[in-house]
Amino acid sequence: MKLAWGPEEEAFRSELETFLDEHIPPEAAAGADFMDDWDDDEAIVPSWLRRWQATLFDHGWMVPGYPPELGGRNCTPVQTLIYLEVMSGRRVPRTGHFPGYAIVAPSLLEFGTAEQKQLAPAAIRGDTIWCIGMSEPNAGSDLAGLQTRAAVFDDQFVVNGQKVWTSYATIAQKCFCYVRTDPDAPKHKGISLLIVDMDTPGIDVRPLRHLSGKAHFAEVFFDDVVVPRENLVGQLNGGWLLTQGSLAHERAGLWVEGVGRLEQNVIALVELAKKTGKDTDPNARRRIAAAYEFASSLRALGYKGFSSFAQGSSAPEHSFMKLATSEAGKAAYELGMELLGGYGAVVDRSLPVEDGRWAHGFFMSFANTIAGGSSEIQRNIIAQRVLGLPRG
Ligand SMILES: Cc1cc2nc3c(=O)[nH]c(=O)nc-3n(C[C@H](O)[C@H](O)[C@H](O)COP(=O)(O)OP(=O)(O)OC[C@H]3O[C@@H](n4cnc5c(N)ncnc54)[C@H](O)[C@@H]3O)c2cc1C
Repeated sequence: MKLAWGPEEEAFRSELETFLDEHIPPEAAAGADFMDDWDDDEAIVPSWLRRWQATLFDHGWMVPGYPPELGGRNCTPVQTLIYLEVMSGRRVPRTGHFPGYAIVAPSLLEFGTAEQKQLAPAAIRGDTIWCIGMSEPNAGSDLAGLQTRAAVFDDQFVVNGQKVWTSYATIAQKCFCYVRTDPDAPKHKGISLLIVDMDTPGIDVRPLRHLSGKAHFAEVFFDDVVVPRENLVGQLNGGWLLTQGSLAHERAGLWVEGVGRLEQNVIALVELAKKTGKDTDPNARRRIAAAYEFASSLRALGYKGFSSFAQGSSAPEHSFMKLATSEAGKAAYELGMELLGGYGAVVDRSLPVEDGRWAHGFFMSFANTIAGGSSEIQRNIIAQRVLGLPRG
C-alpha cells in the first residue's frame, strides 16, 4: 500500500513551500535546537521571531484554519495537517510565545464578549504577549485546588494570591488569570477567568531561573490588584470550563511537531554514532533502531487518529501522542549524551561538544513531560478515559 497526498494537497504544500522560500528569516534556518539556544532576556522572544509571527499572520499562514482576519485562510483539516508537517519538517517556529495564539485567542473567540473578541487578532499576530496564570504553589496537576482569591464587587474584582511557573510573565502585557471567586463552592465550581493587565498596581513578577540557566517563567504575586468587571471571561464561577481551551483547528494535527522533532533527533543520533565510532556497537545500534521504529510507529498512529478525526470520529490515539513524543524525546537526548561518553554531560558553553546540544536538549526535554499535563497525569487520563479502567 502506498500512502500519498493527492494533487490538490500537493499544490497546497507547494504554495506554502514557495512562501517559506521567499519569506523565511535567516535566523529560523538555524534549525535544530535553536529554540533552546536563547541566552538573554531579549531572547525570550527575539525581535526577528516577533516580526516573523506578524509576517505569517499577514499572509494567512499563522493559523491556517482561521479566516484571513485572524491570520488564516480557512484551511481544511487536511491542509492544516500538511501545514504542520511542512513547518515542523523545516523546523520553522511560528511564534516565540504560544499562549496568545494557542490558548487565549481560541478561548476569547468561543467564550469572550464582543469586546474581548477584539483582543484575539493581536494575540494571534503576537502584537500582545499573554501569559497564563493557572499553576500555584499548591495547585498544579490538581489545578482545581487553586487559591488565588478574587473578591467580587459590582464593578470590579480585587485579586490576592500567587501564581508560579508563569511562562513569559516577565514580558507579558496581559495575563489569563484563573482565580477563586466563590471559596464556599465545590472546588471546580468556584473558579473564574479574568483578563489582568500586567502593569496593574499590586502585581510583582519575580523571574525563576530553570535547570538550563534560562528564566522563561516567573512567580507572579497579586496584592489587592483591581480588575474591572468587564475583564471577566465567560460566566462568574464558570472558569473551569475554560481551562480546557485549545486550538480546535489544530488539535488533531498537533502531534506532528512532536513526532517530527523525534524523527529529526533519530537521524541526528545516527550521524552522532558514525562520528563517535559507536555505529559498530551492537547496543547503540539496537537502541537507535528501536528509537527509529518507535518514531515511525508514532507517525503511523498519528495518521490513523487524524483519519478518524477527519471522518468525524473521536481519535483516542492522540491522547497517547503527547505522552509518547515527550518521553521518547527525552530518551533520545539521553542516548545522545551516552554516545558522546564522558563529555556528553558537559553543559559548560565554553567546552561544548556538539554545541552542547544533547545535554542541553536533555535538560529542556523535561519541560515537555510536565507542561500541559505531566506524563503521570496523561497516563491516568489514558487509563480512565481511553481504556475505561477505574480510578487508582
Ligand atoms: C516549561 C513549563 C512551562 C509552564 N508554563 C506554565 C504557565 O505558563 N502557566 C501556568 O500556570 N503553569 C505553567 N507551568 C506549570 C505546569 O502547568 C505545572 O508544572 C504542571 O501542571 C504540574 O504541576 P506541579 O508542577 O505543581 O506538579 P504537581 O502537580 O505537584 O506534581 C508533582 C509530581 O506528582 C505527579 N502527580 C501529581 N498528581 C498525580 C496523580 N493524581 N497521579 C499520579 N501522579 C501525580 C506529577 O506527575 C509530578 O510528577 C509550566 C510548566 C513547565 C514545565
